[in-house]
Amino acid sequence: MTDLKRINDIYEMYTSFTDAEPNGKFTFSAKDNLTSIDFESCAGSKILSGYRPPFDATPIKKMREAGGFLQGKTNMDEFGFGTFSANSGFGIPKNPYDLNRSCGGSSGGAACAAAVLEDHVALGVSTGGSIVCPASFCGVYGIAPSYGRVSRYGLIDYANSLDKVGVLSAKAADLGKYLRIIAGKDEHDPTSCVQPDMPEKDRAMKSVAVPKEAIEGISDKVMTHFEASLESLRSMGIDVEYVDMPVLKYAMPAYYVIAASEASTNLARFCGMRYGQQDGDLSLGFDAYFTSFRSKYFGDEAKRRILLGTFTRMVGYADRYYNKALRVRESIIQEYKKVFTNCDAVVTPTMPFISPRFDEIANMSALDVYKADFLTIPPNLTGMPHMSVPCGYSDGMPVGLMFTSDHWNEDVLLSAAVEWEKGFEMKRPEVKA
Ligand code: GLN
Repeated sequence: MTDLKRINDIYEMYTSFTDAEPNGKFTFSAKDNLTSIDFESCAGSKILSGYRPPFDATPIKKMREAGGFLQGKTNMDEFGFGTFSANSGFGIPKNPYDLNRSCGGSSGGAACAAAVLEDHVALGVSTGGSIVCPASFCGVYGIAPSYGRVSRYGLIDYANSLDKVGVLSAKAADLGKYLRIIAGKDEHDPTSCVQPDMPEKDRAMKSVAVPKEAIEGISDKVMTHFEASLESLRSMGIDVEYVDMPVLKYAMPAYYVIAASEASTNLARFCGMRYGQQDGDLSLGFDAYFTSFRSKYFGDEAKRRILLGTFTRMVGYADRYYNKALRVRESIIQEYKKVFTNCDAVVTPTMPFISPRFDEIANMSALDVYKADFLTIPPNLTGMPHMSVPCGYSDGMPVGLMFTSDHWNEDVLLSAAVEWEKGFEMKRPEVKA
């Protein structure tokens, strides 16, 4: 058995991979919702089992053109619906620091690969926090860039107005190096075509703001490290101030309305005829075929999102839910813009608690899980770049610190990651294979 197979048997970070000897300048993995020619691309869903895309997603294509060797596709919550990667149709990735705990989600396999493999970079995707959450639970660096910075061509969408492809790695410098490779205009994704170029040299971060609303409800274990991190930022010469951002409390409900509305329309195409599985009974009428097929292959969380999203955009309810959520999104963007007139970034913990055990997750309601995202959702809803850096260990589990900057200002985050790494003692997990 090869080392990679042994490692994957323990951590279950890949849904498919090759153990062929890498023949590129560097090796990378891609989340399973990015299409690639050489592997199945199932987005964590049984409904897509067997789907072999005929093309590479643009970010994968660009990584290969830069000399990258694609090692495998990483496990994830079905279509990105989740916070712990426990909603995958293909097993659950295990946290490298404690196999009884979650890697976070939905890019859980990506964060796990970045943590356990040497010199490895993983492409992840975030809709509401799916890069920074797993980065923080697995103790690695992760950046979700501005919406539109990286082409979404070849991404199996969760919510088109929110999805962003980004980078996870155990090394801070990799974020900038690989983001620059995958970023840029792509005629296949018009939202990527309005972006300004990334500056050649990253600007330094000089000041940050801590929203008072964001630090309510944080566990003591995380809070201790957050306060120590603010001290470290001050000693790096960065000004730290506290601000009020009262509209942040509406971000979580607005996000779940918008995300579910878009997801429910995106999932309509999985009808058992065009992609993946096609084993339904064709003698049934269209509706009966469609229903039996989707009932069998979609997981519970996907079904919940279809119901929720269909309701929130229904005639008669759309004004009350979907359209109102769009207005909330706009006011949150304005609130951040106001804060950014006085500082370079907003800083908060990434997640309110350390990675939970699987038995704890099993006892959480759907709403408890949604609420766990209250820190990562606001930057995602605004389309602003945000990043998690490891900032300490509590009971041996990593804690993450999250920075958000204004649209297109990834460079201040990238320089801060490199500066932060100089003063942070990372404890890589002991790999069990
Ligand atoms: N946990 C959030 C959700 O379930 C975010 C997931 C993501 O970014 N894909 O929607």
